[in-house]
Amino acid sequence: MVEVKCNLCNSSFNSLKYVKDGFRVVKCACGMVFVNPRLREIKYDEEYFKRKGSIYEDYLDERELKKKNFKKIINEIKKLKIGRLLDVGCGTGELLEVSKEKGYSVKGVEISEFASGYCSGKFDVINESFDEVEFNEKFDVVTMMDYIEHSKDPFNDLRKVKNILNENGILVISTGDINSWFSKLMGRNWNFLNPEEHLYYFSEKSLRKMLEKSGFEIVKIKKDFRYVSFRNFLRYFKINLKMKGFNFLVWLPSMMVVFARKV
Ligand SMILES: [Zn+2]
Repeated sequence: MVEVKCNLCNSSFNSLKYVKDGFRVVKCACGMVFVNPRLREIKYDEEYFKRKGSIYEDYLDERELKKKNFKKIINEIKKLKIGRLLDVGCGTGELLEVSKEKGYSVKGVEISEFASGYCSGKFDVINESFDEVEFNEKFDVVTMMDYIEHSKDPFNDLRKVKNILNENGILVISTGDINSWFSKLMGRNWNFLNPEEHLYYFSEKSLRKMLEKSGFEIVKIKKDFRYVSFRNFLRYFKINLKMKGFNFLVWLPSMMVVFARKV
């Protein structure tokens, strides 16, 4: 286990918010919520993507759903910027597939050998941790979908994104919102609160602060409407259904999508 300082304001002082799965989730006076201490390394192997009872059990089955969701996001991004796109934490490549169809030239970074292996035949995917990749090119758009909560150093990642973006480049982040009514209602049972692998819990305010500190301005913050399967939807309420059901569009009240521009 490793003890960490606040990633937003560097303070070592924080107060206990939750204990879950044997981990302490703490809150800094600046508003940042994070796991402390945390595991030194997290293994994103095949097991991770297929883990029983987790949202990832249907990971590969849900590719079509994900593509539908990413299409909505890419349509939004297209209004702001076109060109070269980098997807950080590209998983099995659904966003790369959709954005390529929409006319972007695409590249992905993925720490999991299993996931990157799945799509590396089709796309240019670097199998490394984002902070270790050395880029000798620039991008117009960087996307981080459900990535930043896994990052060991979000602030460092955002500064790195700034450096690899062209002038007025766009960064899109989707992550949980710990200040949402759903998160408050569920407390330590919030499905997104998964301290073994989700290390950082942002609110609109703390994400805005970190983005501004790393050289971005907010373009817009959107509520996250996603297509989900009925089965995964029930899992949010700790119900495990054996059958595979239908899919539907639902507003996920504890997720947010943030569009930011490099300044
Ligand atoms: Zn802080």
